[in-house]
Amino acid sequence: MMEQTLAILKPDAVRKKFSGAILARYEKEGFRICALKTRLLSKAEAEGFYAVHRERPFFASLVDFMVSGPVILVVLQKENAILAHRQLMGATDPAKAEKETLRALYGESIEYNAVHGSDSAETARFEIPYFFSTVEIVG
Ligand code: GDP
Repeated sequence: MMEQTLAILKPDAVRKKFSGAILARYEKEGFRICALKTRLLSKAEAEGFYAVHRERPFFASLVDFMVSGPVILVVLQKENAILAHRQLMGATDPAKAEKETLRALYGESIEYNAVHGSDSAETARFEIPYFFSTVEIVG
């Protein structure tokens, strides 16, 4: 099934100039970049985006991190894009991520882990319109 998923190149990856390498990897792995923009998230935007994690002990720290610098928001399209992107990202903790995954290559800690990816079709349906209007997405 052709799917779209939301990827975020997080502030750590952008700061370290890994954006080009990560975007190149997406194309190499057969994803099409349907939409892309650089944004500095507001605190309210980051809190709303991660609302499901509101009760987690790391929520405040995660929000502070996500607003600490520009992020690059990307809509990726491919057959089974959601799972394919999760596999390409690797485990949340870069130390536990498979070799050659984005988090193993570019992440530095369980929080500063370089990329975000929608984890289900339901999540993607919330996350993509959270940042992009339909006219911005070339499917
Ligand atoms: P993901 O779907 O793999 O991104 O992981 P989660 O949805 O569980 O967590 C969202 C984000 O919160 C992660 O990507 C990390 O940036 C951060 N995070 C997750 N677990 C922890 C943790 O135990 N400690 C800290 N400080 N941050 C975490």
